[in-house]
Amino acid sequence: PTQTIPSVDAEIVHSSTYRTEGAAGLEVAKFIQSLGYRAQVHSPNDNTGPYIPMFVEAGLGSLGACGYLLTPHVGSRCRLMIITTDANVTHDKPVDYGIHAFCQVCQVCVNRCPGRALMRDKVWWRGIEKHKLYFKRCRPVMARYLGCGVCMKVCPIQKYGMSTVMTHYAETGQVLGKGTHDLEGYELEGKGYFGPGELPVFEREFFNSMPTGDTENWAFENLKKKAAEAGGEVSDEMLNEFRQTLQVGLGQSRDNLEMMEMEDYI
Ligand code: SF4
Ligand code: SF4
Repeated sequence: PTQTIPSVDAEIVHSSTYRTEGAAGLEVAKFIQSLGYRAQVHSPNDNTGPYIPMFVEAGLGSLGACGYLLTPHVGSRCRLMIITTDANVTHDKPVDYGIHAFCQVCQVCVNRCPGRALMRDKVWWRGIEKHKLYFKRCRPVMARYLGCGVCMKVCPIQKYGMSTVMTHYAETGQVLGKGTHDLEGYELEGKGYFGPGELPVFEREFFNSMPTGDTENWAFENLKKKAAEAGGEVSDEMLNEFRQTLQVGLGQSRDNLEMMEMEDYI
């Protein structure tokens, strides 16, 4: 379903993979514990650590121009998970798979990103030189269009596999699939189809309207904004809206596995 991105089908696979890897992670942790060591499974969503740099350090891939881990083994559509342990483990080393150099030539994801959130050139950011994703231009597109992921869909390494793409490049000097509808085309609900060289246009407000923080933070920020607009007056109506939104936020489950069991969870 990666080639149908952005789509509900792709989101189902994305979400259900977390469930599968969660179950697999627990099995591995139980095995480590059976050997007498401690083992803790970490959800990819609990911000235990900088996941991508840790996977790069372990030689499992590189940071692609797309802004996430690009691996020679499974392309860019990975769901990452870590297990911490006090067992005696050996440490791997980063491996240069040639991905950085290839991304400089390829640039398909950069050119095709509907939010124009990816940068052509690397920048120095927090101590390393890397492709930096412009979060404020990506997140609203992700939120509105089923997680977006166009940068995954159009990546030749994702679609054809690294070995095929590198062999083609070595033989022809061309990026496999670049410039074709097959690789670069995608459809956004309500906006239509965009082929090579075509990008959707969004109003400025689309990027400015993105809520930040959790539901409670957003409710408070919204209350402050409305009060400021009303010259500092806080009306009963504003307080009621604030209370209702707080109740929704406080009633939300923080349990990822429980959320996945909900009927409307995709
Ligand atoms: S998810 Fe979409 S908006 Fe975000 S970087 Fe990828 S292509 Fe761009
Ligand atoms: S689409 Fe091209 S530039 Fe982007 S991550 Fe894939 S290989 Fe790198």
